[in-house]
Amino acid sequence: MNAYFSALGRDAVIVPCHVAAEDLEEAIMGLRRMRNLDGIIVTVPHKEAVATLCDSLTEEARLVGAVNAIRRHPDGHLKGGQFDGEGFVAGLHKAGHSVAGRRVLMAGAGGAASGIGFALLRHGVAALTIYNRTADRAEALAQRLRDTYPAASISVTGPDPSGHDIVVNATSLGLRQDDPMPIDTQRLVPPMVAAEVVMQPEVTPFLTAAAQRGCATHGGYPMLAEQVALLAQFIAGEAD
Ligand code: NDP
Repeated sequence: MNAYFSALGRDAVIVPCHVAAEDLEEAIMGLRRMRNLDGIIVTVPHKEAVATLCDSLTEEARLVGAVNAIRRHPDGHLKGGQFDGEGFVAGLHKAGHSVAGRRVLMAGAGGAASGIGFALLRHGVAALTIYNRTADRAEALAQRLRDTYPAASISVTGPDPSGHDIVVNATSLGLRQDDPMPIDTQRLVPPMVAAEVVMQPEVTPFLTAAAQRGCATHGGYPMLAEQVALLAQFIAGEAD
């Protein structure tokens, strides 16, 4: 983001702050009083908790139930926004993988999956299937998505990707080399596209397995890269 500010000639800088979960409320209260603070980027594990500490939310943040950017108004009012899903879809599109009309299997039902699910439906996927280790969480996310998109095809399934065009790992599996696969990679076949949210390692075991089976792969970094401008514009009050 600092490179982005610098390229635009903006008098702004972003610095990392480490806040423990039990201190979040006090930290946010203190940030309200900082008059030269335009906003905050929020990451794990605070995205959901911080949504309850904002004074207002964008529609996307309200639907997803999580915030990853906060705009601080001059009077201290904090408005929460959510751009993870839009960043993910923008990254796929930039790589030439359109989501409209495609059948998508998404592994995961946490914060990242929630944002991605809403964004995929907003961008017109033909069907969204959710697989998650904890099936209740997958059902709960599917229901929230159906409440907003009642005409959409949204279902909960097992780990078999057969019959899908795009398979998304929206879990945290892959951060460690000995993690299990997020879905049954033996059933990946071309021309399926395998897409990741995990950024480190850049090539996860899921992407390696997909490539070995001849599928196109898409890493986790573009999801973040495509958000930089969105986050900066939101914090600057130039976009909602
Ligand atoms: P959450 O903790 O909200 O969700 C974690 C998800 O992973 C859940 O679906 C959970 O399943 C699943 N999971 C975790 N461990 C296991 C396991 N051992 N076996 C099966 N499933 C498992 O995390 P987030 O959604 O916030 O983040 C997920 C990932 O997305 C992280 O790696 C994060 O770094 C990445 N991310 C990347 C971004 C980017 O810009 N590239 C942006 C945001 C996030 P269950 O419900 O059963 O626990």
